Amino acid sequence: MARQSSLRHRCNPAATIDVYPVPVPAALFPEARLQRRNITRFVADGHLGKLTRDLRLLGIDVLYAKLASDTELVACSAAEARALLTRDRRLLMHAAVRDGYYPRSQFAEEQTREVVQRFELRAQLAPFTGCLHCNGLLAAVAKEEVFDALEPLTKIYYETFRRCQKCGRIYWSGSHFDKLRARIERLVAEP
Ligand SMILES: [Zn+2]
Repeated sequence: MARQSSLRHRCNPAATIDVYPVPVPAALFPEARLQRRNITRFVADGHLGKLTRDLRLLGIDVLYAKLASDTELVACSAAEARALLTRDRRLLMHAAVRDGYYPRSQFAEEQTREVVQRFELRAQLAPFTGCLHCNGLLAAVAKEEVFDALEPLTKIYYETFRRCQKCGRIYWSGSHFDKLRARIERLVAEP
């Protein structure tokens, strides 16, 4: 049967419908749209802020802008070969979106596990290497270099710091660190 681009298509009662699991047979779907798994770069729609933060926490490259328009999301996905993460099925049907995924869960932790599993990212997870706020990379920085920007108690109790190379935000293993580490453990726990 001819492939349809709209979910509104009504099937002829005599139609035969073939349904394939992911990954689909490459011989039948050579362009593999929305089927490829080995993707490491993503763009997430404005409703997936928590998923974005979780993925960045795991060191995954995710672009995100809360107010990005559908057009911008599709253009970014196409121009930078990023898989589009969205819970808007209509967006994923756009012909310019080659790779993408619709998280089934409404909850960020479960969505994160879904994305890690769907794109087989487990082997390349690198927690605490990316900025949670801007997706920049973190680099070690000497305490002297960031000293003036630190809170008084942080100056006293911490010696090791990393700084986002893009937005300049400073990271250290403060009181929030154990919480984040526990979250990472939950995110990467085998199902
Ligand atoms: Zn940053």
